[in-house]
Amino acid sequence: MKEDKYIPGIYNYCDRWCERCPLRRRCFLYAKEQKRIARHKARGEDPYDWKYIIQDVKENFDETLKLLHKFAEEKGIDLSALPEEKHKDYEPDDHPLMKAASDYLKMAQKFLEKLRQTIQAEGIDLAKTVEIIPSAKSNIGTLRKIAANYEVICWYHTLIPVKIHRALQSKMEINKDEFAQSDADASAKIAYIGIMKSMNALKAIYNWNEDLQDGALVLLVAIDKLRRGVDKEFPGHHTFKRPGFDD
Ligand code: SF4
Repeated sequence: MKEDKYIPGIYNYCDRWCERCPLRRRCFLYAKEQKRIARHKARGEDPYDWKYIIQDVKENFDETLKLLHKFAEEKGIDLSALPEEKHKDYEPDDHPLMKAASDYLKMAQKFLEKLRQTIQAEGIDLAKTVEIIPSAKSNIGTLRKIAANYEVICWYHTLIPVKIHRALQSKMEINKDEFAQSDADASAKIAYIGIMKSMNALKAIYNWNEDLQDGALVLLVAIDKLRRGVDKEFPGHHTFKRPGFDD
């Protein structure tokens, strides 16, 4: 990896929304993925075909294993002699914050379906109106903004629980792993950013359509509970600096 071009490990601190990432040119993972896509396209293959995705994941895994064995050999570590992991007595899934995050995911899924249908219906109505009243075109911008807010809620409603789970998992390992605290804070920070963006998007939806207000409000209450939970469990996330993003 050319460190002058890429920011080391930047992909560990992002929301994985590469299409919208301002730092994708400095991300090794993004460059690697683009290379993968180009390679398959050059061979006339569909890079998004599961057959190729699984094949590529396997190759990456093999490559990582090779590097791991090389590293262990250099450091004189016998990987086969490592002690077995003890059973973990702490499970993030049982944590109230994780339960709240799972609840939010399920509620958001239902709301998103209703929102999608509403946007679609409004789009059809608007297209018909524009045919009769051309000046109604000015409403297209509003609908686009609503669609963008839909995408935001959609993207983060699955990412938030994943990041909260990881943050809780890392917190559990603070006593045995020197990087666990920063990993917990970093994961919590990404969850928090997703929460704040989702809240803004939900507020915009609330103000846009009366029929969606009840659903948006319920979700806002649920996600605010998450926001407070993340703040309480991971106060360090506020000061954590993500390489590249917060420099
Ligand atoms: S840093 Fe940006 S480009 Fe890289 S994986 Fe994350 S979102 Fe995608």
